[in-house]
Amino acid sequence: MLAASRADLSKAFCSYCGYPPMGPWRLRAHRVCMRCQMGMVLRAPPNAQPRYDEPFLIVDERLIVQAISHRAERLLSVKEPDGFGVPLEEFLVSANGDADGLTLALMAERAIAGDATPGSLELRTVRDPAISRAGRVVGCGPPPAALLILGAPKPDIQRSSNGVRPDAAKRRLPVHAAGGGGE
Ligand SMILES: [Zn+2]
Repeated sequence: MLAASRADLSKAFCSYCGYPPMGPWRLRAHRVCMRCQMGMVLRAPPNAQPRYDEPFLIVDERLIVQAISHRAERLLSVKEPDGFGVPLEEFLVSANGDADGLTLALMAERAIAGDATPGSLELRTVRDPAISRAGRVVGCGPPPAALLILGAPKPDIQRSSNGVRPDAAKRRLPVHAAGGGGE
């Protein structure tokens, strides 16, 4: 790998509240976030750090949760001490089945190794399979870890459809009469 392809970890953010560290950080780097007093200050590649309103998790190369942001706690209904050290799959799984689970592990491995190309895949929450998010994976640190950011919910294509195809009605199977319980 060329050095130039390695991720440049220069954007600082807090592992809990998600905000960049406050002013003094530039003069005197600190590890614990001075805003929320709960998160650690980590760094991600430029333009890849979480937005303040995006839930995210930090995982290691085995997809073990190292940190859960405040918003991810709410999305996943988990309290941070309970989430630490737990396999990611207890909270989030690939929306497309096991094949993508391997992909997620590979994305995390590559991100931790310093690959600057972000990975992305659709994930759904374990507690409610109806909640799906476009996940993206980038490296962060120190120490080296993978940052899994949960982006906007995937648009529901079926529900946003505003019309029925002309031939759809013909193909539809006969519908049982509502309330027809007589036998
Ligand atoms: Zn913070």
